[in-house]
This record gives sequence, structure tokens and C-alpha cells, in this order.
Amino acid sequence: MNTSESNEMVVVAIDGPAGSGKSTVAKLLAERIDLPYLDTGAMYRSVTFACIAAGIDPEDRAAAAEVAKNMELRMETDGTVTVNGVDATTQIRGPEVTRAVSSVASHPEVRTELVSRQREWARRKGGGVLEGRDIGTVVFPDATLVVYLTASAEVRAARRAGEVADLDYDTVAADIARRDALDQNRETDPLRRADGALEVDTTYLTIDEVLDVLENRLEVSLNNE
Ligand code: C5P
Repeated sequence: MNTSESNEMVVVAIDGPAGSGKSTVAKLLAERIDLPYLDTGAMYRSVTFACIAAGIDPEDRAAAAEVAKNMELRMETDGTVTVNGVDATTQIRGPEVTRAVSSVASHPEVRTELVSRQREWARRKGGGVLEGRDIGTVVFPDATLVVYLTASAEVRAARRAGEVADLDYDTVAADIARRDALDQNRETDPLRRADGALEVDTTYLTIDEVLDVLENRLEVSLNNE
């Protein structure tokens, strides 16, 4: 597919709960259609890492907002993440950050700052595939394609447990359930399916099957523009 034929910038928004397949699917779709990829969860994890490094309580709304505004963040295409000059690639995925990230992400000023950086990123790149919790509802509601991925709670927990070597299934399942509840019930920009989003239940689908569905739908959207 040649996405550069369109005059408008092509944006694909992919949202869904933890373990729904967002990261894998977004990364591979971006490769297939030759667009850059942005993991917005890594941005919320980076603010959380910076709060912890500065000894700031993740619940402290004003302090977390300052951290977000002043954060120097570099995200390389190979997945390397540098926060205020420190390589945080491993730690942003660790248990300490994972425990605190949904609190940090609930602060409205943190969200405003990161949403503005995400829009700026897409403008600078001339489009892209962005994945997170509020891309289709808040960041790019007019995206070329808006997707909401789901999967059963059991499959989502099993996928995440497979990625994190030192955590067992029950611990991962409990963490996912806790984060989903926080993400879906927070006041500012809660996780929900955007109106008109293409909902794909990935429970019984292979990655390639999901990619085919999205690529076909994107083609239809581009042809209708
Ligand atoms: O996608 P990932 O699991 O790395 O996201 C970590 C956390 O960051 C989520 O549980 C959610 O609290 C927050 N997040 C968010 N909005 C986004 C992306 C992530 O609130 N767009």
C-alpha cells in the first residue's frame, strides 16, 4: 500500500486495554505501510520513571505535571528510551513503573502535555501509527483509521505473562485487571472505544489475520477520501 499518495497525513489510531495486542500490531502495521510508529504508553511510563527518579509521589498531581512539562524524552526506533539523559528502556517496563503509571496517567496536566507532544510528533513525521488508550477518542479523533483492539482477560494476561519472564500468570492478571479499572474509570480521557472505531477482538486471531483486517480497512478509508 502506498500511503504517500494521499495529500492528507495518514494517521492510524490504535487503542485498547493491556495485552490486547496493540504494541505488536501497531509496530508491524507501521512497517507494512511504511509509516513511523509511536508507543504512547512508553511516554506515560517515562513520566512515571522521572517522578520515581526525582522522589516524587505519583499521586502528587502538581509535581507530576511539572515533571511531565520539563521531561526531556528521546524515543529511538530500536525501542531505546532516554529520560532526562538516562537510559530508561528496561526500567520503564519494570514492576515499580508499571504499578504507578496509571496514577500518573490520571493527572489531567500530564495528559495535556503528552497529548500535545504526540500531535507534534505526528505533524513532524507527516503521519504515523500511534497506539495507546485515548488516541482515537482524544489525540486524533479524525485519524484515517481508528481501531479498538480487545481480547479476553485470560488471553491478555497470558500474553503479558509470556513477555515478563519473572512474573507468574496470577500476578500479571491481577495487575492488568487493576490497571484496566483505573484506565477505564479515570475522569480525564478514560479508555473507551471511540465512536465509529473498528473493533477487533484478537482472542482467536493470529497477528497476521489482525494486520490483514486493518490493512484492508485502511485501504478502503484511503480510497474513500
Ligand atoms: O500501553 P502500556 O501498558 O505501556 O501503558 C501504560 C499505562 O499508560 C496505561 O495503563 C495507562 O494508564 C497509560 N496510558 C494512557 N494513555 C495512553 C497510553 C497509556 O493513559 N495513550
